[in-house]
Amino acid sequence: SRRKKLKDASPEKAIPAVTKLIAAAIEASGRDRKNLLGTGIVMPGPFGESGLSYSGAAVLSGWENIDIKEEFEKALACPVIIENDATAAAVSERLAGTASEMNSFCFIYFGTGLGLGVIAGGHSQRGALGNAGEIGHIITEANGLPCPCGNFGCLETYASRMGAFAFLEKAGVNMDEGATLASLLEAQHPAMLEWIEGAAQHLSQAIGMVENLFDPETVILGGAMADVVIDALIEKLDLPKGSVANRPARSFPRVMRGSSGRLTAAIGGAAMIIHRTITPTVTVFH
Ligand SMILES: [Zn+2]
Repeated sequence: SRRKKLKDASPEKAIPAVTKLIAAAIEASGRDRKNLLGTGIVMPGPFGESGLSYSGAAVLSGWENIDIKEEFEKALACPVIIENDATAAAVSERLAGTASEMNSFCFIYFGTGLGLGVIAGGHSQRGALGNAGEIGHIITEANGLPCPCGNFGCLETYASRMGAFAFLEKAGVNMDEGATLASLLEAQHPAMLEWIEGAAQHLSQAIGMVENLFDPETVILGGAMADVVIDALIEKLDLPKGSVANRPARSFPRVMRGSSGRLTAAIGGAAMIIHRTITPTVTVFH
């Protein structure tokens, strides 16, 4: 896989960069470009103009007012599927990860912020605009930390990578010197342990809500967060008793770590193209 980090992720910069990466990947594969079935583009929501489209570091700005699919199709000259990163990650987890035996599960996706992908009865739940599962902005603490969205106490301000970096910075940890969340955890840094403790509390409440809303076989945590950090969060969860998931006969634990890796959303995006090609009449992952 190839990755490129962009300082400026506006469409003017990102679309040409993606076009170049794809050309390089095709060349490296030694295959003819006409064999390219399409491109799955995954990105954080929200899609379209909404109150959340202009708020905070977890939002990609400049994408609200353009037809993303059309712009990419023009640049790449192939069919394009656009999907929310959390939904794509859930698809990836269903195809080749922890959820390969499950038809109904929820996937809490750690990007910069926090997303939720829901697979119910084998179908991904997209919502009207592809924005279903914007879990980062549910409130888990009344009158809590201010969030750029305008709420106070959003889950994402506590239990996301962005939230962790803000917490650690406030505690005086300098992340510029090469420390990562995983290395701080391995060193048992007190601020990191404190963050885990707090984030796990907020996640516990959110997981309880998700369980009662969707009755999933399990809730999976995954995405761009190191496995050791996810394991530490899971260990500290204090899940609500008042949940439909709190039942003695369970096939899977209430919460599990994902196993399709950090690029899970990208894998999901690619899988959607293949899925659409081989089963064009089924609307499962359209
Ligand atoms: Zn918010």
